[in-house]
Amino acid sequence: MIQTDIIIIGAGPVGLFTVFEAGLLKLRCHLIDSLPQPGGQCSEIYPKKPIYDIPGFPEILAGDLIDNLMAQAAPFKPGFTLGEAAMTINTMNDGRFKVTTVKGTEHCAPIVMIAGGLGVFEPRKPPIDNLSIYEDKGVEYIIRNPNFYQDKTCVIAGGGDSALDWSIFLAENNIASSVTLVHRSASFRGHLDSVQKVIDLAEKGKINLITEAEVTGLEGKGLLEEVIITHQTQGELRKKANHFIPLFGLKPSLGPISDWGLEIEKNAIKVNTLDYSTNIPGIYAIGDVNTYENKLKLILCGFHEGTLAVQSAFARIFPEKKNVLKYTTVNGVQGF
Ligand SMILES: Cc1cc2nc3c(=O)[nH]c(=O)nc-3n(C[C@H](O)[C@H](O)[C@H](O)COP(=O)(O)OP(=O)(O)OC[C@H]3O[C@@H](n4cnc5c(N)ncnc54)[C@H](O)[C@@H]3O)c2cc1C
Repeated sequence: MIQTDIIIIGAGPVGLFTVFEAGLLKLRCHLIDSLPQPGGQCSEIYPKKPIYDIPGFPEILAGDLIDNLMAQAAPFKPGFTLGEAAMTINTMNDGRFKVTTVKGTEHCAPIVMIAGGLGVFEPRKPPIDNLSIYEDKGVEYIIRNPNFYQDKTCVIAGGGDSALDWSIFLAENNIASSVTLVHRSASFRGHLDSVQKVIDLAEKGKINLITEAEVTGLEGKGLLEEVIITHQTQGELRKKANHFIPLFGLKPSLGPISDWGLEIEKNAIKVNTLDYSTNIPGIYAIGDVNTYENKLKLILCGFHEGTLAVQSAFARIFPEKKNVLKYTTVNGVQGF
């Protein structure tokens, strides 16, 4: 079981900055995120967009902000459980919380900070009857480790950047033994450069590009062996495949957190603005995931909320200790 002072659910910008503020109070943090990388919406939705309302940065790319927040948190050596959604929370006999992920990883701490943003990003799935039978038996919705596909036959579906970029990556680096990209339209939503690259690789025979078509069926005894592709004019095609990877994007949902006995209003967690505590003592909610009067879903507001919440967490963990605010200009950053 992973033990820490504060379990932070959500490694978005607010969760990451909270690690820094907790570290200044000598509190250790462990972050859990259902996504395979830290950064929340900034990394997943708009890494290349400039943000103009981060104090002190007239302009910063969302991806660069996350890199900076990771560097700022680094001295406090946060732990990470990535690619796993936090599913359940239980109170243990000693009063600490146990948070268990979808893969069964257990974490325990006296404080839980929910920085879950818009919630868990769930993959958009194609409407194929027997899809769930092949999940983790050949069907994946996120590419976590490209080497997993070494010498495998892969069919990727989708028309956005993920589908284009991964098709290029698996084909160009000679990872998969064959790469087929299936898209229902003749035009793509992704970057023009990537579209051109896919077309070039298709001409060289490194990607089998099938447009105006959808994967409509899956077959295989136990593991996936074949996909059925329905083309708008040519009808049914069959393609041998060890893997079918539909990359149709992710949609957020508050998910398991909504069943934890927390007071929920408008799909967000109600908090006390004194310290951003929830109705369950020891559990706080910060950033986009919380709601209160005049709430603004902005990164800078989440930074403020995390800062006040860790002060309250400190008082809860060490009721006998007095915490005196110390400027970083005076004390510097004393990492672990
Ligand atoms: C296109 C776009 C542009 C934006 N521009 C700006 C801007 O200019 N300025 C600004 O201030 N804000 C902007 N925002 C809003 C800003 O991105 C959010 O306010 C910010 O991301 C909130 O940070 P967060 O850490 O609270 O949540 P998020 O960034 O949403 O991160 C939450 C994380 O929690 C994880 N999670 C949730 N539930 C679980 C669970 N049960 N288990 C494990 N992990 C879980 C999610 O996977 C996610 O990674 C923009 C948003 C978008 C979409």
